[in-house]
Amino acid sequence: QKALMVRKSHLPAQTEDGIRIPVMGNIELPEEVVSVLDHGGDGIGLYRTEFQYLSRPDFPGEDVLFENYKDVIDVMGDRPVTIRTLDINGDKAVNYIRDTRELNPALGLRAIRYCLKKPEIFKTQLRAILRAAAYGNVRILIPMISGIAEVEQAMAMLDEAADSLIRQGFAYKRDVPVGIMIEVPSAVITADILAEKVDFFSIGTNDLIQYTLAIDRNNRHVAHLHQPLHPAILWMIKRTCDAARAKGIQTYMCGEMAAEPLFAPILLGLGVDELSMNPQAIPMVKDAIRSINTENVAPFIEKAMTMTTCAAVQELLERSFGEAV
Ligand code: PEP
Ligand code: MG
Repeated sequence: QKALMVRKSHLPAQTEDGIRIPVMGNIELPEEVVSVLDHGGDGIGLYRTEFQYLSRPDFPGEDVLFENYKDVIDVMGDRPVTIRTLDINGDKAVNYIRDTRELNPALGLRAIRYCLKKPEIFKTQLRAILRAAAYGNVRILIPMISGIAEVEQAMAMLDEAADSLIRQGFAYKRDVPVGIMIEVPSAVITADILAEKVDFFSIGTNDLIQYTLAIDRNNRHVAHLHQPLHPAILWMIKRTCDAARAKGIQTYMCGEMAAEPLFAPILLGLGVDELSMNPQAIPMVKDAIRSINTENVAPFIEKAMTMTTCAAVQELLERSFGEAV
């Protein structure tokens, strides 16, 4: 049975009525790409590059980063590789960064905030990504965006990085899709403004749930309140997808919510165009997508969006799709 599932996992994930949904893998280290391919992943939907920074005595240089990214890109061929820029601090502390001891790191100088404050570190990474992009199908993904100013500053940094590469005669590619993580409530609320400036959205439900429901994602005392089916979260996902669609860009999801097969109908129904997850989850989610007919999903979503509790949404989901997925 498992062998059959693994072989089947290499077929595309297409709904009964013929809609193709790319199912991608999340990785933290370059060697994990093999597992994504083994499990039938269509590409890398989230490369968490911060792990390259965590396991070292000091910041990595541009060439080290370039080689790392190129290793992943070489294995993936023309499949998309979504490289997320540095998401350090918050819950991922780097021991050689000593100037940011914070009382409340989840709300602190994390991810893009840190990068914009330390332009030389950000520029080193952006140069490495643009150089590696010359070898494959790269997308750049920026974490923890809370408003348009951060997007504009990050884009300006990308231009600066590209200009410096031209001046120094490096091979590089500037024309890569640039997207943002949607994981802070203010990004959802201003999604229509952000959609004008970027090429795609990727919803990070791990943080979006943390910041929307005020639930520390690492605090076991409140783990039971970390609820993906909370009506507020479904509303956030819907609003993000609607805003993106109105502006002609796609919405992906790379948070853990994407890895639960039972949630596939709700995510497709809300308008998520691509899912990315830990590699082990890929075959099950692909299977779930194959059993969905999107014609049945629209009336289900209409009903689900009127539900007032997680339990009611879960019950409706199981009643409508439990057998199939
Ligand atoms: C998320 O927040 O959902 C996400 C995918 O990013 P990370 O888990 O790395 O914060
Ligand atoms: Mg996140």
